[in-house]
Amino acid sequence: MNAIEEDFAELQEVIQQGPIYPNGTPEEIRAHLASHYDFRGQKDLAETVADVERMLRTWQVQVTHPRYFGLFNPSVTLASVVADTLVAMYNPQLANWRTSPAGNEIERHTLGWLAAKFGLPAQSRATFTSGGTEANLSAVTVALTNAFPGYGEDGLRSLAAEPTIYLTEEAHHGFNKIAHLTGLGRKALRMVAVDGDLKMDMADLERRVAEDRRSGFAPFMVVGTAGTTATGAIDPLKELGRFCQRAGLWFHADAAWGGAAILSPELRHHLAGIESADSITCDAHKWFSVSMGCGMFFCRHPDRVAEAFRSQVSYMPDKESRPVFDPYTTSMQWSRRFIGLKLFLSLAQNGESGQAAMIEHQTRMGHVLRESLIASGWRIVNRTPLPLVCFTRDGLDVRRFLASLREEQIVWMSEVPIQGRPAVRACITSYRTTESDVLSVVEEMNRLAAQHAAH
Ligand SMILES: *Cc1c(COP(=O)(O)O)cnc(C)c1O
Repeated sequence: MNAIEEDFAELQEVIQQGPIYPNGTPEEIRAHLASHYDFRGQKDLAETVADVERMLRTWQVQVTHPRYFGLFNPSVTLASVVADTLVAMYNPQLANWRTSPAGNEIERHTLGWLAAKFGLPAQSRATFTSGGTEANLSAVTVALTNAFPGYGEDGLRSLAAEPTIYLTEEAHHGFNKIAHLTGLGRKALRMVAVDGDLKMDMADLERRVAEDRRSGFAPFMVVGTAGTTATGAIDPLKELGRFCQRAGLWFHADAAWGGAAILSPELRHHLAGIESADSITCDAHKWFSVSMGCGMFFCRHPDRVAEAFRSQVSYMPDKESRPVFDPYTTSMQWSRRFIGLKLFLSLAQNGESGQAAMIEHQTRMGHVLRESLIASGWRIVNRTPLPLVCFTRDGLDVRRFLASLREEQIVWMSEVPIQGRPAVRACITSYRTTESDVLSVVEEMNRLAAQHAAH
């Protein structure tokens, strides 16, 4: 524990001082590997670890750098690093309850607490997943099982009408793969129009569902995103809940990133309506700042989950009559890592208010970024209460500008097309990002923009 804590602190220092962007070609990395690792002889473990650390420091975007304003990859908590190490050492198998009662009950306890925060009923079923994509895939699978009794045994081909899912272009693109994997086909995704803030347009949703029903399709599910990847938009969750109830559709809330806001008294009202969801995706490896991968799938219909993931095999330990459940019969995975320990340990150490303070700090840093950009003549082109800022200025060549940020190792940001126009996307995703980080980044960007304008 002490050794990990020391290493953790030391690495933070090193990363903070070092470059954010990697520097290396595939040829260079492959040549290094080919010349050092033919796996014929034996190598000293400590030496190899040192070499791996060198590789990770050189050939990786340092997502835990306080000036990584990127995708939702967080700076991780010490507790989550300790948890990952413990899990590897004890190697618990969580597929069934009897093999790891401790691990299963710790996960159940943690998920139950969070489910209640989301306002889901006590009998809801929840499991840890590899990430948001597995949770979203679980949601589609359970929703199909719920809507089409023949789906599980006879497959989609037995259905009289083609099932369709409603979401927006701003929803996570993983749903394309999920439509492919489940056999729905990518064309089963119906892209609903968005309003000026890139939120789902309810009138267009109603129109499309009605039209598809008239044309003989079988609408069964709507995906509302709470914090879109590109711009942090939050779909109208309350209206979605009401509409889905009325229309007999499964309401899935994809809160992979934004879901953590449920812990914050300042932010949670932005998620109002999520309690009416049939299922929820939330990633602890995003805004809960635990190491990858730690997704979660919540569902208010335990019987539907049990139906979708049912399995009976002779070689698994017997079920007992006690009120326990075996994750291999309530989730996609079979062999199951003790994923939930990193969220449990982080919550135990920080407490609810400490965990909320981390995201509230990042939200404040997002405001500082937004305000200081506006004050220096930039234009903000997205609207969200979350710390995700998309911006541009007249005449800016976004691609060239981002290349300069990279060359000078100022900050990691990315390009995002907003209503057809390129913009710069910055997300505060590290609890270690300070106000002086933000202000110095804006200062540097102002200098670069002036240079670009002069040429
Ligand atoms: C990140 C994200 C996903 C995908 O989750 P993974 O953990 O990367 O699999 C899905 N939806 C949203 C809104 C996300 O932000």
